[in-house]
Amino acid sequence: MDPFDLAFAAAREAAGLGEVPVGAAVVRDGTVLAVAGNRPRALHDPTAHAEILAIRAACAAVRDERLTGCDLYVTLEPCPMCAGAISFARIRRLYYAASDPKGGGVEHGPRVFNQPTCHHAPEVYSGFRAGEAAALLRGFFEGRRS
Ligand SMILES: [Zn+2]
Repeated sequence: MDPFDLAFAAAREAAGLGEVPVGAAVVRDGTVLAVAGNRPRALHDPTAHAEILAIRAACAAVRDERLTGCDLYVTLEPCPMCAGAISFARIRRLYYAASDPKGGGVEHGPRVFNQPTCHHAPEVYSGFRAGEAAALLRGFFEGRRS
């Protein structure tokens, strides 16, 4: 199973609930530990981004506050908050689909992993299925305007 398939499915599910369509999956050694979609509106929680929920669920699954050796797959460049959580969780590799020039915190904005105050930076790989992720977001926001 391609973890991006799970992340995209979670993003589409989020869109169906009126959430911004972002999905994330945490994987260790080929085992999926957690999959989550964006839920700020449903949970009345501005921190309920897909990455945060996936990290929390994966930590609960392994009963550890660190996800050493785990990789995170997400459909959009993480925001600064999520990049911080990814660092604290000691995620090994971050894979994301679309870049987010407006809200991203990895290759845009504060570039969290490149700061001297960041004590753990994952390996970062981006651009996977970026067109699909961008189309999903575009479709969601166009639908909201109409
Ligand atoms: Zn975020």
